[in-house]
This record gives sequence, structure tokens and C-alpha cells, in this order.
Amino acid sequence: MTKIIVILLTLINITNLLCQDINNTNFAPPLKGNLYISGNFGELRPNHFHTGIDLKTGGRIGKEIFAVDDGYVSRIKIQTMGYGKAVYITHKNGFTSVYAHISKYNKELEVYSKSIQYKNKSYEIDEQIPEGLITFKKGDFIAYSGNTGNSFGPHLHFEIRKTENEHPVNPLLFNFKITDTKTPKILNLYTYNLNNKKSVDYKTDITPYPITKNKTDTINIWENTGFGIECYDYVDYVKNKFAPYNISVYKNNILIYNFTVDNFNFAEKRYVNSHIDYLTYKKNHKKIHKLFIEPNNKFSLYKSQRNNGIIKLTNKETANIKIIVKDVNENKTELNFVAIAKKKNKSTKTNTNKGILMKYNTENTFVNDDIKIFIPKNALYDNFDFEYYKTAKKQYNLTTDYHIHNKYTPLHKNFRVLIKKPETKITNSKIVIARYRSNGRLVALDTKFLEGYFYAWSSEFGTFTLKADTIKPTIKPVNIYEGAKFINDNKIRFKISDNFSGIKSYNGYINGKWVLFEYDKKKNTLTYYFDEQVPALKKDYHLKLIISDFCKNTTSYSVNFIH
Ligand SMILES: [Zn+2]
Repeated sequence: MTKIIVILLTLINITNLLCQDINNTNFAPPLKGNLYISGNFGELRPNHFHTGIDLKTGGRIGKEIFAVDDGYVSRIKIQTMGYGKAVYITHKNGFTSVYAHISKYNKELEVYSKSIQYKNKSYEIDEQIPEGLITFKKGDFIAYSGNTGNSFGPHLHFEIRKTENEHPVNPLLFNFKITDTKTPKILNLYTYNLNNKKSVDYKTDITPYPITKNKTDTINIWENTGFGIECYDYVDYVKNKFAPYNISVYKNNILIYNFTVDNFNFAEKRYVNSHIDYLTYKKNHKKIHKLFIEPNNKFSLYKSQRNNGIIKLTNKETANIKIIVKDVNENKTELNFVAIAKKKNKSTKTNTNKGILMKYNTENTFVNDDIKIFIPKNALYDNFDFEYYKTAKKQYNLTTDYHIHNKYTPLHKNFRVLIKKPETKITNSKIVIARYRSNGRLVALDTKFLEGYFYAWSSEFGTFTLKADTIKPTIKPVNIYEGAKFINDNKIRFKISDNFSGIKSYNGYINGKWVLFEYDKKKNTLTYYFDEQVPALKKDYHLKLIISDFCKNTTSYSVNFIH
């Protein structure tokens, strides 16, 4: 009991502290004009909860971005995927603002980031910057918006983090003016049969209830039932749908589940795989918020719960259930119904243990003649029966297909797969472990070789095989040829691609000196923008470009040009 009180007090404390901190801020908007969001904090994304808000930039690249408060630039990060080009500004009020998918920095940041790229001889950088080197005042122009990195349409990804622990905080809790008078909607209710202990079993026994207006029906449930809802929030002026801020469930007016998306630790963002009904998501992309908590789901956004949100009734007992969904502006929607424990377990199929029991609170291993797998402790949300089998070798693969459980069981941490080296003349560095996607295509994993086995870490269970990549990447010049003259053109551009394992490195040298080629992975382009490395002297220059894939297949291209 004391422990519960202590935990409760700590929670209240943390929440209050955060509120106080938020009240001490007065951020300016990062974009001019009205702010329109296309994505909000806590959205259910593949393998993560969204850690910021996405702001519309009028469908275009190049909208000016402004510092939301006085502060210093504490980090510049450039990735081909992920955040693309990003800048972090640390403020005095205890928060850091983050701006991502940028197309171009302002002059000062552009010069600085380029100096780091040249120093590291790398397009990708992640540089921590000491206080005082680059500072901004509130409202200063810092960069142009873009579509770099893992962004599929121009927008600004904007985050606010607690500076001390980097926890992302819901930006809509601050004073950004986003008009929201619309109420969230619950589209569907689901009941999950939890009579069997293992969570994998409920997945075959889900009943959806379409939501009609003023639903007061009685719903038949099992003696142990979990609820799930499909629900979205909406805001004024835009058509997008958003994630709710808060979901709570009451059984006979007692709160049994409360999920509030205020702030969390980055290390927790993969809990989305347990929060949603992962199997339904993998089968038909429907995102259902489960209103009950799996045994090894320790996500801090569950602010309170009783019996993990599971409704426990004796036979024919009834309970009044109330589900409330709120947005950050306190618009709310409510669903009330009576639940009665009348449903019997569907069938007769006694639960014969087909597989090997894997436990969430220990390390798990599986070893046979062909493969070994290693699942770290706490990689699973619940215990499950692991299954394995293999099927015939496909023509272009080096081994048979190994079915390592299936893609419907979620993982919180990656697991390690080792596959025994088959009889082959192909050298080890050209061989990778590959996993089948749902469309039947293979994706190469970053593979190493040790003591007779190829090994890789995988984020998902599924079907694996070994495949060789002996084909070199290709380089296609876009605007350069032997003797080309660059007079008005400000760049040299290539298209590059690889058949299977993917581009690992790309380096360009002009007259023997490394120059910065920007890699756009979505467009498969490598671009060098003329800079002080290649002054326009109407003289001859020599360019050499070398690219390699993950299997050490290397292609190079040499050309002379005039600039
Ligand atoms: Zn985003």
C-alpha cells in the first residue's frame, strides 16, 4: 500500500513539475502565419510513437523556420534517413527545440555544418556543439523547411525536449496556437478474450462492435476481457486525423486504465508495438489502441491502471463501462455501455502446445542444425510459443527458407539470428542474411560472419534466408561527361543505385581532395554543389567517385571537367 502511495505521489510530482516548467515558457511559433498540423505527438507509427508534431509548409520546400526562443545551437545532425538535416536549440527555460527534415540551414549553420562534414569527410554528421558558439534570439531565421530524411512530403517536424533528460514533451501542451474545437471520435470497439493466459491466444478471438450514436447496448464479454478502440482526434481547418491525448476506462465508475500522451523517454517509443493490437495492424494496417496492458509493457504513459485494464467478471455478472477519449484541448467523447460475462470460449480445440515456450523475463535461445537464435531479456511483451520450420530453397537463394516464428508477434528489442554457412564458393563478405517482406521481396540485413555462422540483428520475426550480392552498384552521370564545361550550372549530379544489399559508402574526390556529395536516398542522387574547393578558374579538374555496397562491391567513376 505504501509503495502505491509513493508511486502515486511521485507521478503527481512529476506531472506538476512538468506543468510548472511549461507555464514558465513563452515560445514563438517556428513558422510564420497560422500553424497547421499534419501529425501530432504520440501518433502510432511503425515501431515508434511520434515524438513531435508535423507542421504543414504549404506543400513546398523552402518555408522559413524561426527559433522559438532565445538559445544556443547544441547539436547539428545530418542523416540520409531519419531526421534528415536537423538542428537543436537549447533554451534557458529547461527545454530544447528540434527542427527536422530541413532543406538548407541559414548561412551561419550552413558554414558550420559544412566545416564538420569536411573535417569528418562525411555527409552524415551528428555534432554536439558547446554553449556560446552559435546563438539565436527568439524569432531569428534559422533554416528553410524541406523533405530530407525519412519524410515523404515537405513539412517541418518540430519537437520540444526536456533538456536534462532529452524526453520529448507534447508540443501542444505549450502556447502554440492551433485551433481545436473538434471532438475525438471512437470508430470501433473491440473485445478481446483473455480467458486463456497467454496473450497470443486472444488474438484469434476478437469481436468488433461498430459504434453507433448513443450506444447503450449490452455487450456480451468473457469472464476475462480486454477492450480495444480505434479512435482519432481532429482539429479545425485540416482534414488529417490525429492521435488522442488521453484515453481512460472506468468500470462501475472506478478508473481502471489511463493513457496520457504528455512526455516519455525516447527508449520507450517502441512500446507502440505492445500498445496497439500488433497482429491486426500487421494483417490490415488498422491501428487499435488496446485498453489493457501486456505483462511486460512498462510504458510510463499508462498513468494508472487496475488489473492491467483487464475486466474480470464472474459468470453472468454485469458492469457499467465508460470509455473517455480526450484531446489536448479537453474536447472529449464518451462511450457508455453495459458488459455482461456471457460469452464462452469458442471452441474445443484444447490448447496443445505446438511450440517452445519463450519467456519475456529471461533470455531465450533456440538452436538446431541450421540456425541459432538469441532473444534478449525484455525483448518480448508476453510469453509465447515459439515455432520454427523450414521450406525448400528458392532458386536465387543460398539456403532454404527458415521460418523463425512469424511477423505477428511484436518485439521490443531486436533479436539475433545466426545461419550456418552452406557449401559455396562465394566469399563470406558477399553473403547476407535476408528477411522476406510481406510483398515477397527480400530485405538485406547488416550481416557479419563468425565461426561458421552468418549473423545479424532483426527487428521482426519472419522468414529468413541467405543470399549473395556480387553485383557492383551503378553510377549514372546526370550532368557531367568527359570534358564538360560548368559555367552556369552550380552542381555536379549523379544517380546511384544498388541491386540488393544497398549503398554503404560514397566518396567523391576532386584533384585528389575529398569533396562533399549530398546523398538523397529517396531520389538516388549524389550531388556536389560547387564551393571554395573548386573555384571557377576556367581550368581542368579531375573528379573521382567511389561507391560501395554492404557486400564490399565497389564501383568508381573518373572524369575530367572544366570549371
Ligand atoms: Zn514528424
